[in-house]
Amino acid sequence: MDSLVRTILLARSALRHGLGVILALALSVFLVTDLTWNFDPRFRYPAALLFAVAFGASARARYRQSDLVSSRGWQETELGMFSVLGLLGLAAYVDGNLDGSTYPVMFIFLVLLSVLAVPWATAVTVGFAISVEAAVRFIAFGEDALRSLLLHGVLASAFSLVGTIVIRAEVARIRTHSRNRLDAEIERMHSAARSYRLLGATARVDDLSDENTPPSSDLDANRLARSSVEEIHQAVLFALQLLHRSLGLHTAMLLWLSDASPHLRISELSSDADNLLEGPFPMNDGIFGAVVTEKNTLTLSNLKASYSLPYYTGACPVRALAAVPVMENDQLRGLLVTDRKDNVAFSSSEQDLLLAATRYMLRAIQNERVFVQLERAKVEQGKLYRAARALGSAMSERDVVEAGVRSAREIASFDFAAVTLFDEAKKMHVIRAVSGDSVQGLVGVKFRHNAGLVSMVVQNKHPLPYRGHYDPNRQVVFAPRVAPAPMSSLLVLPLLVHERPLGTLVLGARRPGALGEAVRPTLEVLASHVAVSLSGARMMKRLEELATRDGLTGLFNKRALLEMSQDKLAAAKRFSRKLSLLVVDIDHFKKVNDTYGHDQGDVVLKGLGVILRKAKRTTDAVARFGGEEFIILCEETDREGAMLLAERIREELQQTTFQTPKGELSVTCSIGIATFPDAGTDWDTLFKAADEALYVSKRSGRNRCTAWSSRRGKAA
Ligand code: GH3
Ligand code: MG
Ligand code: MG
Repeated sequence: MDSLVRTILLARSALRHGLGVILALALSVFLVTDLTWNFDPRFRYPAALLFAVAFGASARARYRQSDLVSSRGWQETELGMFSVLGLLGLAAYVDGNLDGSTYPVMFIFLVLLSVLAVPWATAVTVGFAISVEAAVRFIAFGEDALRSLLLHGVLASAFSLVGTIVIRAEVARIRTHSRNRLDAEIERMHSAARSYRLLGATARVDDLSDENTPPSSDLDANRLARSSVEEIHQAVLFALQLLHRSLGLHTAMLLWLSDASPHLRISELSSDADNLLEGPFPMNDGIFGAVVTEKNTLTLSNLKASYSLPYYTGACPVRALAAVPVMENDQLRGLLVTDRKDNVAFSSSEQDLLLAATRYMLRAIQNERVFVQLERAKVEQGKLYRAARALGSAMSERDVVEAGVRSAREIASFDFAAVTLFDEAKKMHVIRAVSGDSVQGLVGVKFRHNAGLVSMVVQNKHPLPYRGHYDPNRQVVFAPRVAPAPMSSLLVLPLLVHERPLGTLVLGARRPGALGEAVRPTLEVLASHVAVSLSGARMMKRLEELATRDGLTGLFNKRALLEMSQDKLAAAKRFSRKLSLLVVDIDHFKKVNDTYGHDQGDVVLKGLGVILRKAKRTTDAVARFGGEEFIILCEETDREGAMLLAERIREELQQTTFQTPKGELSVTCSIGIATFPDAGTDWDTLFKAADEALYVSKRSGRNRCTAWSSRRGKAA
C-alpha cells in the first residue's frame, strides 16, 4: 500500500515537473519555427504570454519551496530552461542574431545558476541552452559555421563550472571554519569547567567532532557543564561590577589558574581599560608571581606610567593596585586583581571587601560544583532505575543478559559487550552472549579458568583492568585464542551475588578512556543488578523444572503432559494431522520390587526413562504418568508409525539387563496405542482408548504392543 501511494506521488510529481520541461521544449520549438518563418505577431503575443506565465510560476515555485525538498533539482532545471529560452529569444529578436551585445547576459545568468542550483540542474540547463542555440543558428538563421556555437558552448560550460567549483569550495571553507570555532568554543568551556572542578578528571566531553555520535550522557554532561560555567560567570561578573563601581576601580578581574599549565586566564572582568591583554599570563609573571608565592594580599600605590603590569600593554594606566589570592582548602586557585587610576592606596577595609568578594566567587563555584554533582547523580540514578526495571521484568537468563547489555549502553559508549558465565564445579567459563564488533563465533565458546582477565575477575571479584586501559598485546581477555577485536578501552566487571561470582560483564571500546572512572561506579552497580537478576532467572528456571519434571527420570510429569496435550491436540485438529498416544507399562513390576527391592525398581524406571528419551523425536513429548506407567505423545504420527516406535521401545527394554546384587535383571513392558482422530478427538477418549489397548496387551500375554482399532477386537 505504502509503495503504491509513493509511486502515485512520484508519478504525479514527475508529471508536474515534466509539464514545465515539456512546455519549455514546446516554446523552444515555437521560437525556432517563428525565427525561421517569421509568423504573424498575432501568434507571438499568446506565446509570449504563455512564456511569461510559465516563467513566473516556475520562479515562484522555486522560491517558495524549502531548499531541502527532493524536487528542488527539478524546479531549478525548469526555471533554468525557461530563463535560457527567454535570454536566447531576447538576443534573437533584439539583436537579430546570437552574437550581439545581449547574448553575454547568458553567461552572467549561468554563473548565477551554478552558484544557486544543484549541479545536475545546471548541467541540464547548459545542455538545453546549447541545443536550442544550435537549432536557432542552423535552422532559423541558416548558419553553417560551427565556430560561434562552439565558442558559446565552451564559455557557457566554463562559466557554470567556475560557479559550481567556487561555491562548493566556499561552502566547505565556511563549514570547516565554523566547525573549528565550535570545537574551540567547546574546548574553552570545557577547560573552564575543569578548572572550576565541575567535571571529574576523567569526565572529558571531547570527541564531539568524532564520527561516532557521543552517547546521550556525554551530551547531557556537556550541557550541564556549560550552564554551570555560565552561572559562575554571571555571579563573578556581578561581584566584579559591584567592586568596580563601589571602589572606583579602573579594572576588576578574576584570574583563574589553568588546569593544564601554570598559567592564569582571565575568567571574568569589568574594566574601563582599552589596552588590556587577553592572557593567559605565566603565573610567575611580575606581581602575579609575588602573590602566588606569598599567598597574601598585595597592594601597591604610587605606580608610575613606566611601571609594567603583566595585563596592560603600553604605559601603565593606573596608580594603585590590590591583588588578592583566591584560596580553596589551602590551595591557590586564582587571583582577584583590582586597580584604579587615582593614587589612593587600598585601605584595609577595602582589602577586607576584596577578600569577602573572593569568598563569594568561590562559593558560587562550589555551589555549581554541588549542583553538577547532584544533577549527575540524578541522571545516573535515572539510568540505574531504568536498568533495574528492565532487569526486573527479564525472566529468563537470555532476557537478563540482553537487558543488561542494553542498560550498559545507556551508561557508557562501547563497541563490544559480552557476558560470560562461570561453572564453579567444572572450572569452566562460557561466553553466553555478545553484542557489537566482530563477535562472530564467540557465543557459546567455552574456556578454562586461566590467567585471562575474565578468570582473574572471577577469582578476585574485582573489576579489571585498572582504569579501563587495555593492551591487546599483553593482556588476554577470555583465552589466548578467544579474543574480541583489539580495542583501547576494556572493562571486565564481576557478576557477584552474595560474593559468589556467577560470571562477568565484559565491555570494550575503540575510544581510549571510554570506560574510565566516570562510568565505572555506575557500571559496577549495574553489574550487581545483572547478577541478582541472573540468579533470579536461574532460580525461576529450577522452580519451573521442579513443577514440570519428574524427579526420578527427569521426564515431564503428568501435569506438564496434560497441559501440552491440549496444545498438541488443538494443533492436530487445526491442521488435520494425526497424533498418536502410547501408554507404556512395565510387566509384573510389583514382582521386581518384591524380589530386588524398591531401589532396584527405581533403577529400572530410570533405565526405561533413558530408553524412551532416546527413542523419541524432538517433537514428541515423554512423561512419567505415575508409578511405572509412561506416556509418549507423537505429533504427525499415524497408527503404523506409532506401532513401529512402540515395538522399538519394547525390544530395547527387553534386551536391557540391569545389574543387581542379586544377579542380572531384565524386564518387559506392554504398550497400548491410540491415534487421533480415529480413536478419539479429545484427551479423555484418546487416553481411554490407549488404556484399553494396553489392557489387551496385558491380557494377551504381556510384552507386546496393541493399537486401538474401531473393530472392537482392538488388536493390531
Ligand atoms: P502388570 O504387568 O499387570 O502391570 O503388573 P504390575 O506388577 O506392574 O502391576 P501394577 O502396574 O499394578 O503395579 C504397579 C507397581 O509399581 C506398584 C508399585 O509397587 C510399583 N511402583 C509404583 N511407583 C513406583 C516407584 O516410584 N518406584 C518403584 N520402585 N516402584 C513403583
Ligand atoms: Mg505394571
Ligand atoms: Mg501399572
